[in-house]
Amino acid sequence: MADIIQLLPDHVANQIAAGEVVQRPASVVKELLENAIDAKSSTIKLLVKDAGKTLVQVIDDGIGMSVTDARLSFERHATSKIRSAEDLFQLNTKGFRGEALASIAAIAHVELKTKQEQDEVGTAITIEGSEIVSQDVVVTPTGTSIAVKHLFFNIPARRNFLKSNTVEIRHIIDEFQRVALAHPSISFVMYHNGSEMFNLPQSNYRQRIVNIFGPKTNEKLVPVNEDTDVLKISGFVGKPEYAKKSRGEQFFFVNQRFIKSAYLNHAITAAFEGLIKEGTHASYFLNLEVNPQTIDINIHPTKTEIKFDDEHTLYAILRASVKHSLGQFNIAPVLDFERDANLDTPYDYSNKSASTPTIEVDRSFNPFNTEKAAAPSRSSSYSGRKETSTAGWESLYVGMESKGTKSKQDFSEIQFESVESTASMFDEVQMAPKQTTYQLQNKYILNTIKSGMLVIDQHRAHQRVLYEDFLKFITGKDTVSQQLLFPLQIQLSKQEHDIVFQLKSDLEHAGFVFQNFEDHMVEIIGLPINVPESEVSIILEQLISDVEHEVPDANFSAADLLAKSLAKSLAIKSGQSLTQIEQDHLVNSLFACKEPNVSPTNRPTFITMTVDELDKKFM
Ligand code: ADP
Ligand code: MG
Repeated sequence: MADIIQLLPDHVANQIAAGEVVQRPASVVKELLENAIDAKSSTIKLLVKDAGKTLVQVIDDGIGMSVTDARLSFERHATSKIRSAEDLFQLNTKGFRGEALASIAAIAHVELKTKQEQDEVGTAITIEGSEIVSQDVVVTPTGTSIAVKHLFFNIPARRNFLKSNTVEIRHIIDEFQRVALAHPSISFVMYHNGSEMFNLPQSNYRQRIVNIFGPKTNEKLVPVNEDTDVLKISGFVGKPEYAKKSRGEQFFFVNQRFIKSAYLNHAITAAFEGLIKEGTHASYFLNLEVNPQTIDINIHPTKTEIKFDDEHTLYAILRASVKHSLGQFNIAPVLDFERDANLDTPYDYSNKSASTPTIEVDRSFNPFNTEKAAAPSRSSSYSGRKETSTAGWESLYVGMESKGTKSKQDFSEIQFESVESTASMFDEVQMAPKQTTYQLQNKYILNTIKSGMLVIDQHRAHQRVLYEDFLKFITGKDTVSQQLLFPLQIQLSKQEHDIVFQLKSDLEHAGFVFQNFEDHMVEIIGLPINVPESEVSIILEQLISDVEHEVPDANFSAADLLAKSLAKSLAIKSGQSLTQIEQDHLVNSLFACKEPNVSPTNRPTFITMTVDELDKKFM
């Protein structure tokens, strides 16, 4: 048989290699920024269009390249940064594989302009899919500009795989922030579609953090400094009271390179143990300096994972120094998580009904029944009955503030809807005459039905109820909100602000009333009726992270996402104990929903078990 093995042509090999290096526009951003840093730049500009799908351009004022180097830089395994394999173990630059530019040029249109200081003129090269289209002599400032256009133009499958612009720009911002945080002595600017997203002058580390995450960050930071033989630590951790629900602000840099390490993250978590609430995450911005020979950064193609020779020692030092800093700054004594919410209310107000003067209700509006106004509503507060002083049924669940304090006696005033109003579900399964519920493990609600029993997941069920409520408000004409006695100010970073701004009109329909919308702060003077004031910042945080991470490209409806996110934040959780009345109410509310059998994320809210099935189990 004839020989059948062939060497792959270079452009094919490059395309394959590109798959590893370039997953999305953000990967290009990372590689180009790192090259600019290695080129000893002092100012770096990032320009992005359409979340990088149309353009990623990095302009630096670094050392530039000679004509020959400019040409060579696009060859695979062409690098100025290592000469032998041993060099890999004492790397002081970001690059090492000489693969990034070759890979990028294989799957995009690339325009390079570069000039070295001593030269009069520079070089311009255009490459499309590894093919050199042109090479010219140009007048250009010292430094390098690389524009990457139409990423994945020749790999449609990859292009289609890209997420929405919101998601892709989030990834780009993540990369940009990581690089900018690791290099405060370099000034960075970033533009997206012509508008400035970041302008970070050369500064110290604290100022850099504040410039990225907003002026309010300053007061949250506790410095951490440690200098041992094996490890130098510098940077900041966030004060425990600012711990966040999402993991957004957690940064480790090892020798100025962003890394992810679950193990080291654990060291920080351990240092914060007992200081922050479960389910929240401390912020940290920590630079670790170790001897480059004691680490191996080559175990991961995109270089965010790293192997240390002596992880245990690093862990111990890290935990001890963070603990020490928290102690030194006297953090522990001011903590008070179990603060009684009642103490926040001036005494004069605490026993008054808050609803009558402050809630604006459209008294004729009953969202739960469009055809028959007379039918009993499961949510009496929305129909605006004067005598009901509780601010909405759902609010009883929401904060679970019922921990024995206020409004217990209010339960007695509330009327329950009759069984008839609990629509279709019961037509099929026929409610047994006497309705009884039982809560199992503070997680499931058991309910007897004629054919057997229902097991309801309380968290998912409540999500469904809240979701349909919110959706009705957001998409409907009428809005119901409670005015706040004092405006609530929420600090946001620029990107967070942009996301909230994008959703502003939907949020307003849901019942939020904004008074001021500034770059780093929003002022809220009204809230949806079932959103407690104390939860607002957490809800917004959740919402922002949902928008950033969970929006699929297609079928994106802001209203739907908002309703889902609010429902997720506000739904009673597993582990919360419910009174008999609350259980009954939840069950009734669930089956008054349009789609009672699934949660907003399409997971079952309940299962049934028939007597037949039970009988079988006893055979
Ligand atoms: P690596 O960074 O691993 O060396 P790259 O493909 O990213 O590989 O870059 C190849 C070479 O091109 C680099 O080693 C460097 O010499 C040169 N180069 C790339 N970007 C720049 C830049 N912005 N300024 C100067 N030289 C650059
Ligand atoms: Mg590189």
